[in-house]
Amino acid sequence: MLQEVLNEIARGERFVLTSHARPDGDAIGSTLACGEILRQMGKHADTIFRDGIPRVYQQLPFASDAIHGDRVRGNYHAAILLECDNIQRTRVEGLEKYFLINIDHHKSGRNFANLNWIDPQAVATGELVYKLARAAGVKISPEIATCLYTAVLTDTGAFMFEGTNQHTFELARELVLAGADPARCARNIYFGHSTAKMRLLGAALSALQREGPLAWIWVTQEQMERVGAKEEDCEGLVNYALSIGDVEVAVFFRELPDGRFRVSLRSKGKLDVAHIAEEFGGGGHTCASGCSVDGPLHAAVESVLGKIRPRPQ
Ligand code: 5GP
Repeated sequence: MLQEVLNEIARGERFVLTSHARPDGDAIGSTLACGEILRQMGKHADTIFRDGIPRVYQQLPFASDAIHGDRVRGNYHAAILLECDNIQRTRVEGLEKYFLINIDHHKSGRNFANLNWIDPQAVATGELVYKLARAAGVKISPEIATCLYTAVLTDTGAFMFEGTNQHTFELARELVLAGADPARCARNIYFGHSTAKMRLLGAALSALQREGPLAWIWVTQEQMERVGAKEEDCEGLVNYALSIGDVEVAVFFRELPDGRFRVSLRSKGKLDVAHIAEEFGGGGHTCASGCSVDGPLHAAVESVLGKIRPRPQ
């Protein structure tokens, strides 16, 4: 499939690249890197994201060139969607009219595009973009390496998630040799938070709930407004609940302006949380997944926990 993607790129001149809404490190890193790889191949490549780039990723090379918008217009040979398991995940309109290339590593990945390169063995979509660059003979510049290292670093949970193996470290080594600075990447991402995020974390943790191997936390719109937190400040809060020794599964609920809840699920590996998210129309990986559910809070909690709790024998 990699060769077919390369053949399609060879056939065109102008490409638009995008990823999912509320982009994370892999979405942003792999999209920015892939755009630059195409430019190095002599193509015109625009990158567009539905939501703004979160502050911890704004220092990435090419981040300032990315378009922040909800509609694609213009003359492109193809649209490349990275890290998306369907077109709606981009929340960018106007993509349907282009030839679509899907590059993804989600277990829940789907063949929604004209060309679908899905490899759930890859720890990050950035790993696939790295393979694309190598196959195309594009030199990995320090800037491309920085974007791809960020993708791998974040989607492996800083090399902590299941699936991280010797190949991940070989890839990381290649990227560091190509010019990625691990300490600088880590500092921007893990030591670049806003004060509001820390205050929100305090509020969420002070109301943490436990039930056997389960832990869950939530934040409401009112709490977010009170501390001046943005949507991106909620990223990663779920990991604090998962960090408790005897917790196997952690769930984070974020109230949306319409009263529904965004749900982030994390597992230490015994329970496949992708399955749980899929039951609510979401998706993701065995150890990290997400979905949206109806409120109010107690209904949201009960519907999600109801799918996680062990069923009586
Ligand atoms: P997060 O909890 O950080 O939003 O998402 C964790 C993982 O689940 C990410 O890999 C993300 O792409 C995936 N994910 C989150 N929400 C959704 C969703 O609504 N649909 C699908 N298909 N995947 C999701």
